Amino acid sequence: MNPLARRSHSSDRPGPSGLAGRSGRPGRSGSVLVRQRYACAYEEGPRPIPPTPPALRLARPVLAPATVRACAITQEPVLALTYDDGPDPATTIPVLDALARRHVRATFFVLAEQVLAHPGVLRRIVTDGHEVALHGFDHTRLTTLPFAQAIGSIRRARDIVEEVAQHRVRLFRPAYGAQTPQLAVATRALGLDVVLWSAWARDWTDEPTQVLLDRAIGAAHPGGIMLLHDASVGVSGYRGRGAVGEPGAGALPGAGALPGAGVEPGAGGEPGAGGATGVGGEPGASRVLPTFDRGALTGGLIDELRSRGYRFPTVSGLAQLAPVGRMVWFERAPA
Ligand SMILES: [Zn+2]
Repeated sequence: MNPLARRSHSSDRPGPSGLAGRSGRPGRSGSVLVRQRYACAYEEGPRPIPPTPPALRLARPVLAPATVRACAITQEPVLALTYDDGPDPATTIPVLDALARRHVRATFFVLAEQVLAHPGVLRRIVTDGHEVALHGFDHTRLTTLPFAQAIGSIRRARDIVEEVAQHRVRLFRPAYGAQTPQLAVATRALGLDVVLWSAWARDWTDEPTQVLLDRAIGAAHPGGIMLLHDASVGVSGYRGRGAVGEPGAGALPGAGALPGAGVEPGAGGEPGAGGATGVGGEPGASRVLPTFDRGALTGGLIDELRSRGYRFPTVSGLAQLAPVGRMVWFERAPA
């Protein structure tokens, strides 16, 4: 059952009740709390359905407000394709064309700043039947802002995207996956559920399409949420060519003290997340953008996975098919 649908009759708020009292058994509940080491195996392929450790099960009511979606718990070959950082006509349109040719619907985590610049592209995302979700106003790491400013920017961005899309927005992916516990709770109070990912192509690096494709295919797994990008702009932290954004390099999981929550660094892999110095020097000062064809990457990924039996629901569609795998995830505010 979809936790969002379950809540919608009474409240917009995905509060603690979204997890409390569930059995934690795959197939029998709306969500399952998983360890980071399970959800964050971004470049590994098939993985077994994890049992919820007893400590996590006990801690679930306490942890619930701060959990994020990472995947779905299923053995069925289903995978949600997600795209961040757009819309940008130069790169989003080829992705939309590749999806349309294959009759696949994806989830787009858009930046409000980009939406204001390219409202027509967002409207095409909507008319093509894709799910519109929020990535923020711009690509500022929210944990670097005062709390009130951070949550204000999320609210403002959501209002802009809803206005242009003429659709409710219920899913949010913070830039770099960066959030504090306080932000996580406040974001939920806005009616937004935080979605991270469980697989990626590392498509913020400038590598040959085939290399990115092989990586994405190798990372695909049943119930996965695949992180992709339909744009390289809006990325004020983008520092140019190279392997910026090493997994966990910019990430300080705050969950280590929680029982069984795991301490592996995980999310945080997004352009610039690792703070690596690239070609451009100051963030945004020089944009040496990836040159591969994002449409070709999307097309190749769908074609190959389809030949292996995969189907591609949206993030919300995935939650209708299988229990949502949630994990505890924070990035502490920098000192
Ligand atoms: Zn991003």
